[in-house]
Parts: sequence; structure tokens; C-alpha cells
Amino acid sequence: MAARYSIVSLARNAFSHHEGWPRAWRSPDPKERYEVVIVGGGGHGLATAYYLAREHGITDIAVVEKGWLGGGNTGRNTTIIRSNYLWDESAGIYEKALQLYEGLSRDLNFNIMLSQRGVLNLAHNLHDLREISRRVNAIRLNGIDSEILSPEEIKAIAPILDTSPDARYPVLGGSLQRRGGVARHDAVAWGLARAADARGVDIIQNCEVTGILREGGRVTGVETTRGTMMADKVGIAVAGHSSVLAAMAGFRMPVESHPLQALVSEPIKPILDTVVMSGTVHVYVSQSDRGELVMGAGIDGYNGYTQRGSLPVIEHMVAAAMELFPIFSRLRMMRQWGGIVDVCPDASPIVGKTPVDNLFINCGWGTGGFKATPGSGWVFAHTIARGEPHPLNAPFSLDRFVAGKLIDEHGAAGVAH
Ligand SMILES: Cc1cc2nc3c(=O)[nH]c(=O)nc-3n(C[C@H](O)[C@H](O)[C@H](O)COP(=O)(O)OP(=O)(O)OC[C@H]3O[C@@H](n4cnc5c(N)ncnc54)[C@H](O)[C@@H]3O)c2cc1C
Repeated sequence: MAARYSIVSLARNAFSHHEGWPRAWRSPDPKERYEVVIVGGGGHGLATAYYLAREHGITDIAVVEKGWLGGGNTGRNTTIIRSNYLWDESAGIYEKALQLYEGLSRDLNFNIMLSQRGVLNLAHNLHDLREISRRVNAIRLNGIDSEILSPEEIKAIAPILDTSPDARYPVLGGSLQRRGGVARHDAVAWGLARAADARGVDIIQNCEVTGILREGGRVTGVETTRGTMMADKVGIAVAGHSSVLAAMAGFRMPVESHPLQALVSEPIKPILDTVVMSGTVHVYVSQSDRGELVMGAGIDGYNGYTQRGSLPVIEHMVAAAMELFPIFSRLRMMRQWGGIVDVCPDASPIVGKTPVDNLFINCGWGTGGFKATPGSGWVFAHTIARGEPHPLNAPFSLDRFVAGKLIDEHGAAGVAH
């Protein structure tokens, strides 16, 4: 009977445009005062609110989003998750994120469609091979899974890859993180939003922060397009707009904003059940659950805030994909889009305090912050609640650019940026 009821209700809702379905989160009017205001309703802002409520008991929170939830980079990325970074500091924070991802569907009671199908990085020359071996050793010393594969092992995992010795970029070997993979990006945002809302967090969409209020060197609230919100503490998590928000608070950030593009093909039958990356040939590919091949490019070289990119980058990416997978030659590309990523000079994030008391910032994740979403929110929540960074994000402070303690992770990106 229960099964019949659910089929009937499913059919009714299919024809009624979901009118009878409860909202996954409320849409409250903003209050005049909050304990914490988080600027930015992407994955990082929502995860911060969720962990503030869950881990620190702070629920008087507003997440203020100028557009719609996850409409920024969270809903535009190629969904790749991994923790195979070179330096100890990065290993700590990205591995924390991966471990949180591994339990996130259960935690949120929301299927984020995590698929740990492995992430394969290819080597095409002697330099690549040496680099991969250095990396795998460093990663394993941090207790994170990573292994070196022979061309034969790679062929077994991705048979459609051109591994012939006369390929223009022969595959000489590679590394694999088996726990890496993909997750559904919208589901991550929606699951976090629903769980934060259930704990009392106000999620306020279509509300742009236009000013940061300060008094005596301390933050006191934000100006928004829906009025003033006073706050004891403010956390900024706006990715490509970090410098804009910092300027509102009167300081500068060592961050550049660039367009980053991706595209998907028409859907086809399953042909690739791992993620393949080549930094040398300059493309990475995975196949989505709908059958589309999802491909990522490098950043456009110029700075900008329009969420689109240029054709030459796409042409380069498609040419690179053809070098590795000649079988794609008759595939039609269906959709292309861009996001604005916030890139630090050392390709590592900034998560911590700012020159303004009680104003905190989380940014600089650049081309690779989706994989960090829960870990980033977890450490940022700790930093906001305690007023001091957690040991995992202490190395990622803004003042590392003054102290010269950079964490160079340029080589960790899927393609060179
Ligand atoms: C094409 C592409 C592919 C990518 N692929 C991957 C990948 O495979 N793996 C990976 O790990 N990472 C990837 N990334 C990077 C990843 O998407 C980002 O690092 C991550 O999603 C950043 O999350 P966020 O929550 O900080 O930012 P966002 O999701 O961009 O959220 C920030 C929010 O702030 C809002 N905002 C901005 N200004 C204001 C304001 N004044 N007031 C209120 N709200 C404001 C924006 O509207 C936005 O919704 C990719 C990015 C792109 C663009």
C-alpha cells in the first residue's frame, strides 16, 4: 500500500509541477542582527554555516547570497574530488575534506552521489615520470593513498585512451588515487543548505552585500540590497569576488580573478569509469552519470568577472582531448560555460583572519576548491567560532605573503594554470 501511495504521489507531483512538495529550506526575511553573517551561498559558505551550527552550537547565522544557491563556481565546476597534493599543509586540509566527503551523504541525509572511481594523472615524458614519482612518495608519506601505474595498468583502467607508442604524447606511466572521484555539485550545495536550515540558519538569496560596516577597526555588520544586517562576526566566502569584498572592508588581497571554462559532450553509453588528467597535454575528462563527457580547460590569461571565457581556450582543450582519446573525434559538444576563479600566487587558499577584527575570509581556492568544500567549511567554522585558526588552516593565513611562507601547489592542478 505504501509503495502504491508513493507511486501515486510521484505521478501527481510529476504533473503538478511539484506544488505539493515541502521546501528543502526556508526563505526568511533578513533580521536586523545576527551573531554571524556569512557572505556567499556557494558550497564553502554553506558548509561553514552548517559546521558552525553542528560543531560549535552557533545557529544565529545568515548566509547571504547575491544570486541563487550554488549558482557560482559550486554549480559550474567539473566535480572532481581528490587529496593528492604535494605539501604537508595541503595534504592535511584536502585529506580532511575528502574524509568528510566520504561520510557526507549520511551526515546530511542527502545523496551527494559521491563516486570514488579513481583519479588518474598521466605521464608523457621523463620529466613527468620523475615528477609523478616524487609526488606519489610525498603523498604516501602523508598516509594518503596514491600509486604509480605502468602503461599496461593504465590501458586496463581506461581502454579508450591512446596508449600506442607512436602517439604524439605517448603514455609512459601515471599515478592513481583510488579514493578520488566525483560528486554531484548541486547536491553538495542543496544538502548543506537543507541541513544548515534545519539547524536554524537563515539562507537569504537574491541579496547582495554592498558594504562592510566597521567601527574602531572591528566589523559590525554588512550593507545589503535588502537592508543593513548587524553582526558580531562576518565570514567572506565569495570565491571570484574576494578582492571586491576585501576592498569594501578597506584592504587588498593577493588574489587574481580569472575565467575558467569547461564543457560537456552529448550523452553516450558508459565508456570511461575513472577520471583522466593530463597536465602536459592539458585536459582532464570524466563521464557523468548522464553519459556526458565532462572536460576541463585551463584558465583564460586575463582577469575578469564575467562568467564566460574565450574560444581559443576551448579549442586548445578539445585538441588536447583528441590527442589522448582519438575515439572522441565524432563526438558532438553540447554545452560550454565558465566561472570566475580566485587564484593566489602560490595556488593555495587563504582561510583565516583579516586586518579587520572579527572579519574572516575564505578564498583563493582557484581552480580546485570543490574538492575542499566540507574541509574548508569545517576549518572556517572553527576559525570564526574561536577567533583563531584550526591547526589545519593556520598555514593558509593571509600573512604568509608577508612572511614568505608560500605553499606552492601549482603542480597539483589537473591542468597547468
Ligand atoms: C569550470 C570550472 C571547473 C572547476 N572544476 C573543479 C573540479 O573539478 N574540482 C574542484 O575541486 N574544483 C573545481 N573548480 C573550482 C571550484 O568550483 C571552486 O573552487 C569552488 O566551487 C568555490 O566554492 P565557493 O563556495 O567558494 O564559491 P562559489 O560557489 O562561487 O560561491 C561564492 C558565492 O558568493 C556569491 N557572491 C559574490 N559576491 C557576493 C556579494 N557581494 N554578496 C553576496 N554574495 C556574493 C556568488 O554569487 C557565489 O554564489 C572549478 C571551477 C570552475 C569555474
